[in-house]
Amino acid sequence: LNPQDFRGQAHKAVDFIADYYKNVETYPVLSQVQPGFLKNRLPKTPPNTPESFDTILQDVQTDIIPGITHWLSPNFFAYFPASVSSAAFIGEMLCTCFNAVGFNWLASPAATELEMVVMDWLAVMLQLPKTFMFSGSGGGVLQSSTSESTLCTLVAARDRVLDEIGIENIGRLVVYGSDQTHAMYKKVGKIAGIPPHNIRCIPTRMEDEFALSPYSLRKVIEADVEQGLVPLFLCVTVGTTSTTAIDPIKDLADVAKKYNIWVHVDGAYGGNACICPEYRPFLDGIEKVDSLSLSPHKWLLSYGECCCLWMKNPNLVVSALRTDPEYLKNKHSESDSVVSYKDWQVAGTARRFKSLRLWFLLRSYGVENLQNHIRSDVRMAIMFERLVKSDVRFEIVVPRRFALVCFRLKQFNGFDTSYTELLNKKLLERVNSTGRVYLTHTVAGGVYMLRFVVGATLTEEHHVINAWEVIKEMANTIVNEF
Ligand code: PLP
Repeated sequence: LNPQDFRGQAHKAVDFIADYYKNVETYPVLSQVQPGFLKNRLPKTPPNTPESFDTILQDVQTDIIPGITHWLSPNFFAYFPASVSSAAFIGEMLCTCFNAVGFNWLASPAATELEMVVMDWLAVMLQLPKTFMFSGSGGGVLQSSTSESTLCTLVAARDRVLDEIGIENIGRLVVYGSDQTHAMYKKVGKIAGIPPHNIRCIPTRMEDEFALSPYSLRKVIEADVEQGLVPLFLCVTVGTTSTTAIDPIKDLADVAKKYNIWVHVDGAYGGNACICPEYRPFLDGIEKVDSLSLSPHKWLLSYGECCCLWMKNPNLVVSALRTDPEYLKNKHSESDSVVSYKDWQVAGTARRFKSLRLWFLLRSYGVENLQNHIRSDVRMAIMFERLVKSDVRFEIVVPRRFALVCFRLKQFNGFDTSYTELLNKKLLERVNSTGRVYLTHTVAGGVYMLRFVVGATLTEEHHVINAWEVIKEMANTIVNEF
């Protein structure tokens, strides 16, 4: 690493990145390449001698960019978009710059302490009770994903119960979620040793807007208890992936607490909106749960792999995940007076200084502007919703909660459900093949629908209007053909 060479190359790279952001909407949003495209373009072996930086950067333009689905394009309306900002980018640059591996306090005191500060700041923004904050009796940690957050809490809940009933009873443990809970829940359950047949996915109904019903939960738990099983863990979702359904935290927690179940709230997407007072009621009852996670990479401009996890009793996670090898010990870690984040996560010691991103973000924007950012996306989603409603051929399938609109071409008289599904599949395929916009689909309650999410940082109103034009144009061609 030569600082002088680095300066020149990094300046060129920053110019490259700024140009990419400026031009990103000129690329097809959805990559149009076929599998194997890259292996045919690149040499079979690495170079024996160094290549110039300029040549490598040029190859990014010619070989790599065609194979990118442009998540940062303002015409990206798929999945939940990946939101970014200059502020978090600079924080990320500094994170990479220091490359501090803050697995315990001494390994990088600022990394541990800044993370504690930003986790408490975000908790304040979400009006979480003090029981989730370092300044109270709990605490928070940055994970890379909701899966890891859920796994850490599930393992803590599991060990707490197994300490009481004995490890030989692991096969009796049961976890609860709904049929709308993200697929990671089943994966995490399996990793934690829960028998797959004890991972409950309780059915939801379109009439309840796909929220998990406390009544259904109670019935399922009662049946399990009757069978001699041991209820362990409930995953409640604020903003499900398919349709942004909102499970009622308070009522579900009331049911769960009767059985001493650990309640985790997955607010991966929807939780971010709760920094706005108008969405905060979706977290009502949060004081009753054990843990909450949400992912600023989904809506709070933080760049990827940034998931916040708060717990009321982090000691339970620490006692489940703690490692104590001689080679990591120091007088601070031994004294237990400091946080050793290695014991709050899956990885052994690998840990990045990601709090820098959030620190830059929160300071550069201020809470007010982050709230405005959420509101602006919601406003654009409302605009899209109105456009859909203005066309008699289309319908909104599920009421909009945040910045996701679930819609489809209506079922016409005389045509059956499978025909309508085919029509909508065709529409999605056509729309995406234009490269002008990208959206995805889901099936909920047996209904195939298209999902349109406003959330890419560079999206403005005219991109939403343009997307609607593309959708209408493609709908015209399909309706004429069928
Ligand atoms: N939970 C919800 C509500 C999600 O929307 C997603 C991803 O979209 C996940 C969990 C999965 O998160 P991760 O990939 O970070 O584990």
